[in-house]
Amino acid sequence: MSITIEGIAASPGICIAKAFRLQHQEYQIVKKSLTNTEEEIERFEKMIEKSKAELEALKLETSKKLGEDKAAIFASHILILSDPEFIQAIKEKVATEQVNAEFALDEIAAMFISMFENMENEYMRERAADIRDVTKRLLGHLLGVEMINPSTISEEVVIIAKDLTPSDTAQLNRQYVKGFTTEIGGRTSHSAIMARSMEIPAVVGTKNVLSQIENNMLVIVDGNDGKVILNPTDDEVKQYKVKKAAYEKQQVEWAKLKNEKTITIDGHQVELGGNIGTPQDVQGVLNFGGEAIGLYRTEFLYMGREQLPTEEEQYHAYKAVLESMENKPVVVRTLDIGGDKELPYLDLPKEMNPFLGFRAIRLCLEMQEMFRTQLRGLLRASVFGNLKIMFPMIATLDEFRQAKSILLEEKEKLQKDGIEVSDNIEIGIMVEIPSTAVMADLFAKEVDFFSIGTNDLIQYTLAVDRMNERVSYLYQPYNPAILRLIKNIIDKAHHNGKWVGMCGEMAGDEIAIPILLGLGLDEFSMSATSILKARSQISRISRSEMIAVAEKVLNMDTAEEVKDYIETILK
Ligand code: PEP
Ligand code: MG
Repeated sequence: MSITIEGIAASPGICIAKAFRLQHQEYQIVKKSLTNTEEEIERFEKMIEKSKAELEALKLETSKKLGEDKAAIFASHILILSDPEFIQAIKEKVATEQVNAEFALDEIAAMFISMFENMENEYMRERAADIRDVTKRLLGHLLGVEMINPSTISEEVVIIAKDLTPSDTAQLNRQYVKGFTTEIGGRTSHSAIMARSMEIPAVVGTKNVLSQIENNMLVIVDGNDGKVILNPTDDEVKQYKVKKAAYEKQQVEWAKLKNEKTITIDGHQVELGGNIGTPQDVQGVLNFGGEAIGLYRTEFLYMGREQLPTEEEQYHAYKAVLESMENKPVVVRTLDIGGDKELPYLDLPKEMNPFLGFRAIRLCLEMQEMFRTQLRGLLRASVFGNLKIMFPMIATLDEFRQAKSILLEEKEKLQKDGIEVSDNIEIGIMVEIPSTAVMADLFAKEVDFFSIGTNDLIQYTLAVDRMNERVSYLYQPYNPAILRLIKNIIDKAHHNGKWVGMCGEMAGDEIAIPILLGLGLDEFSMSATSILKARSQISRISRSEMIAVAEKVLNMDTAEEVKDYIETILK
């Protein structure tokens, strides 16, 4: 009998292969009282060294087999094991509480993991997965338990796991691993992100799949619809083979669009860009036919470290991105820290409402030395490509004017010192606060461009915390209130001869795209893997028809009505 399990579609595609259960042993951590804590700390240090040596070997092996980028994960694990803040906290716990190292490690790691897990950003949540992963390795050594090594898999399989650690995924060989499913995780969990970058089908959140499956059982993973079929019937296999072939044909069609422009059937052209968090992400955007970087979230340069990045470090990061993009537009957003994205070393006081607090441009305008360092790094890099700078969380004209004048001051200083700076840097803002969306007519006179940050614009407009599950029903991208704000932003920009992009998640959304096209959005910036699908969608619709569609939805009553209507026209 076949069993169908519903989960979350995490990475598109369909695969049919035998199951491989990747189940690491669960560790039993028992608290022990010790008298000789020095000896315990010495044992702990030895196991750190053993783990580091193992990680060095894994890094080398993975880089040979699967490439440098996959091996990078092990470098970051080595770094965690060298992080004095983390390691010292464990040793101190052993010494002061006179407990065993396993117990201290487990408790301290849990504290760090929950800190990172509660951050809204997926890149930061990945760090939680890294800490969990490296902790497991270290615990294994302290307890004397061997770990499964997924790189030894040598036949075609579907991986079935509770969750995949970053080091598990780094060791997965695409040649043999055809797909995976994990019991926990959501669309932005580490394993889901990895699946999309490996381009293998994945379904996550399949709750108790492990208890229903044995090794070698046949499995179908449908990453398009979020379904996993265990022990499928012959008919189901046949049916999914047809589906798989159709999807693969579609992908071949999409891939043909890689070097194409993005044009509607009636000749209206838009630009499709990618959102990145680090210079390493640029390659993915180019591989998927991105025409620009529509959002470079620079916060990641500042996070996961002990102190602020220097001007030199920043200059090199920005230069690397600009050079890789070879004169294609690169929109760099200045530091958007604060709120949920903390920098422990800035030692800022806790706030009641961090999303409404001392963050992003507010913080930069006050901590000017830090802001000026970033701007100098950017200005110096500007000669290596097509740089556009944008400020996040702008709520008032005054904030924009201040930020711009600081930027121009730094430019002048650099030029006085004989340092070359591009004269074609556009200066824009994120429109993610309703006051700015409403005042778009005035902003449009002063900025060079807008980029609509719908992730925050929705949260502030509907007064709905974007991280609170209880109120997530109010997080409504298609609410006519949001659509009307977007229309106002685009109209006022165009009236003043300025261009408008969107870098919130909504820009890559199949339902939103037709409306945004109708409203006249010029640039859509999204995750790399969404680009070709969006290009294909846009190339099949007519801009003049979408103008009428947009007009209609602006006057609808509810988000559901908008969604239902767009779904019918997409059919
Ligand atoms: C946004 O708010 O839409 C956005 C792109 O910024 P972030 O998700 O980084 O807040
Ligand atoms: Mg934002």
